[in-house]
Amino acid sequence: MLQKDRSATTSSRSITSNPQGGLDTPVQFIKGVGPRIASVFASRDIKTVRDLLTFFPRAYEDRTKINNTKDLREGMTATLSLQITGTRKIPLRNGRHLFEARCTDGAGTVSLKWFNMPRGMEARLIRGMQLIATGTVKYYQGRPEIGHPEITWNAAADALEGESRDFGRVVPVYTEIEGLPSRLLRKILWEAVNRYCGQLQEDLPPSLLGSRALPPLGEAIRAIHFPPPGEESSVKELVRFNTPAHHRMIYEEFFKFEYLVLRKRLRMEKAAAEPLGRAQGLSALDELAAALPFELTRGQRTAIKEIMDDIGSPHPMNRLIQGDVGCGKTAVALLTAAGVIAEGAQVALMAPTEILAEQHHANALKLFGGRVPALLLTGRTAQSERDKIQARLGSGEPLLLIGTHALIEDPVVFKNLAYIIIDEQHRFGVEQRRILRLKGMRKSGQKTLHAHTLVMTATPIPRTLALTVYGDLSVSTITEMPPGRSPVLTKVVRGDARVQAYEKIRSEIRAGRQAYFICPLVSDSEAEGFEHLKSAETEAERLAKEVFCEFKVGLLHGRMRADEKNSVMEGFYGGGTQILVSTTVVEVGVDVPNATVMAIEHAERFGLSQLHQLRGRVGRGGWQSYCFLFAPRRTSDTGEVRLEVLEESHDGFRIAEADLEIRGPGEFLGTRQAGDLPFKIAQLVRDREWLMRARNDAHQILKTDPDLELPEHASLKSYFLREGGAQFERLKTS
Ligand code: ADP
Ligand code: MG
Repeated sequence: MLQKDRSATTSSRSITSNPQGGLDTPVQFIKGVGPRIASVFASRDIKTVRDLLTFFPRAYEDRTKINNTKDLREGMTATLSLQITGTRKIPLRNGRHLFEARCTDGAGTVSLKWFNMPRGMEARLIRGMQLIATGTVKYYQGRPEIGHPEITWNAAADALEGESRDFGRVVPVYTEIEGLPSRLLRKILWEAVNRYCGQLQEDLPPSLLGSRALPPLGEAIRAIHFPPPGEESSVKELVRFNTPAHHRMIYEEFFKFEYLVLRKRLRMEKAAAEPLGRAQGLSALDELAAALPFELTRGQRTAIKEIMDDIGSPHPMNRLIQGDVGCGKTAVALLTAAGVIAEGAQVALMAPTEILAEQHHANALKLFGGRVPALLLTGRTAQSERDKIQARLGSGEPLLLIGTHALIEDPVVFKNLAYIIIDEQHRFGVEQRRILRLKGMRKSGQKTLHAHTLVMTATPIPRTLALTVYGDLSVSTITEMPPGRSPVLTKVVRGDARVQAYEKIRSEIRAGRQAYFICPLVSDSEAEGFEHLKSAETEAERLAKEVFCEFKVGLLHGRMRADEKNSVMEGFYGGGTQILVSTTVVEVGVDVPNATVMAIEHAERFGLSQLHQLRGRVGRGGWQSYCFLFAPRRTSDTGEVRLEVLEESHDGFRIAEADLEIRGPGEFLGTRQAGDLPFKIAQLVRDREWLMRARNDAHQILKTDPDLELPEHASLKSYFLREGGAQFERLKTS
C-alpha cells in the first residue's frame, strides 16, 4: 500500500511532458533495456522514462583520479589503472571456482578476484591487457586485492575524452536493484539522460527559478546523474546533495507540496462554522478557571485565549496545542469545552486509550463540579448506557462526551457537535480523525457548518514537520510547566549500579511515594528471539518476591481485560499499590502526581520521544523525581546517543529534533504517516532552508495569484490540474 502510494506521489510525476511524449515511453524502449531488465525495473515501480530519470543516485563516488597502488589502504575505494601480468583459475570445493588476475600499475601489484566469473569476461582478462578497475581494497595475507571490481576497458582512450560514464568523473551510485549490476544501471541512465533530458518541460514559473538562481529542469536532472567536471570541493557537495542541481529538485518537491498544504489551509479557512466564544461562554470559562485549585500558567492562558478567539470566527478552527508532557493541556481542553457548552453546543473529546479517557472523565467531573454534563463512552460502556448517551446526543443537549475511538463508531450521532478535541492526536490514524470531523458537519440553511477542531500532542513537533505534515494547522505552544516542578533527575544505570538504584527507589517508597517499572515485553512467551529481554509479568513477580517484598506490586499491560486494567490503575491512583510494573501502555497521558520514580528496563531499545514521554509520568507532584534508565554495558551507537540526550536534556523540543535526526521523519511520525511524505530527494532535516524558501514562495503565489490565472503560472496550473493533489488529500492532519 505504502509502496503504491509512494509511486504515485508528486515527485515521481514532477516532470511534465506532453502525455503522448517521450517521457511516458516504457523503459523497455531505452537502448540496452529488454523485457527482462524492464521487469526488474517494474519491481521497483520504475515503468517509464520519467520514472527512471527521477530515480536519483543515493551517493557519488569520486573517480576523477587514479590511485597509486602504493597508497592503498584496507577498506578504501580505489580506482587503479592496471596491466594484467598473469591469471589463474582456482577450483573450489563446491564446484565453483575463483578467478584471479594479478596486475601491476608500475608502482606495485594488486590482485583482482572473482567467484564464478561470467565466461565472456574471462576471455577478455588476458595477460598484457590494460584496464581500469574500481572497487574496495582488502588485504589478504598481507597483499592488496579487490573482489569483483568494476572494470573499464580501453581506459586510456575513454578517460582522456572525459566523456566516460564510469571513469574519469564523479560517478553516481544508485540504490542497488537486484538483478541489475550498477555498471549496467549507469549505462541505461546515461542513455536515458542523453536521449530524453531535452524533452523535459518545466512546471515551475521561470520567475521563481530566476529569483532562487536555480538551473532549468533538464540541466538539473542531467547534473544529478552525471555531474559535470567541477572543482575539487564539488564531490563533497554532491555527496551532501548540496549543489544547484540538487537544490533545484529539492525546491520543486517542497514547493509543490507546500502550495497544496497552504491552499488546503486557505480553503479550510473559508469554510463555514458556528461562531462561538461569546460572552456567555467566556464567563462560564472564567468562573471555572477561578475555581481551579491552581493558577493557570501563562502558556495555558495564552492557549485558551487563542482558542476562544479562533472559535469566535465564522470559520472552523484547526489548531494544534503542543506542549511537553505535564504542561497541563487537559485543563486547556476542558475549560474551553465548558465555554462552548455554556453556549449550547456539544463537544467531543477523544483519547487514544481507555485509561486516558477515564482519567479525563474523572478530571472533568472534578473540574466541572456537576455544572457541566460530562459523559464517558468507551468499548466497555454497557449497551443500556450507550442508549442513554445516544438519546442525550440526539436531543441536542449541550454536553461533553469523552471517549476512545468508540466515539467514531457508527451509531454515535451528534445533533450539534461544534467543537472536537483530540488528545495525543498522533496516536490516531488519519482516517479515524476524518470520521470524527464528519460527525461535526451539519447543515444550517444553505451552509454546511464544520466543527472547530483542537488537536493536542505531547510529542513536540520540530518546526520542519510543523510546516509540512502539520502545515495546515495553527499552532499554540505551551512552553512553561506549572510551578513547583523541578527537572526529573535522570541516570543511565549499568551493571552493579542497579543495586543503588533499587535502594533509592526503596527509600522513595518508604517516604510515601510510588514507582513505575517499564519493561519492553508483556510476557516471556513473546520473547522468542529476545530471550534476554525482561517481560512485565516475570519482572513483576521477581520484584514482588525478591526485591521489594515489603511493598505491593501491580502489573499492567495491554493484553489484560479492560476491567482488570482498571482495577490495577485504581490501585495505583489510590496509592494502595506502590510499584506499577507495566509495558508502555502508561506512556500516554497517565497522571499520578504521587509517583516519583520511573525505572525503564532495556531503555536502549526505546525511541527518544517515547522515553521522554515515559519520564514525563513523574515529576508532577512537587517532589524531586527520578528516572533510571537501565541499559547493558554496551549498546548500539544510536542507543548510546539517545541515552545521552535524555540524561542531559529535559527540553522536549530539543529531544524531538534529535529524535527526528536519528530516525528520520517516517519513523518519527510513527505508523500513521510513515508513507505519507511524498519526497523523493528532499529531506526535511537536511534541507530545511529550502523548505522555508519553498514555503515562502508558495505563500506568495497563493497571495498574488491564488487560482494560477497569470500566463506565467500556466504550466504550474496544468501540473496541479493533472495531478489533482489527490495524494495530498490523504495528508489531513486533523
Ligand atoms: P499534559 O499536558 O501532559 O496532558 P496534564 O493535563 O495531564 O498534562 O497535566 C499534568 C498535571 O498538572 C495534572 O495533574 C494537572 O492537574 C496539573 N496542572 C495543570 N495545570 C496546572 C497549573 N497551572 N498549575 C499546577 N498544576 C497544574
Ligand atoms: Mg495529556
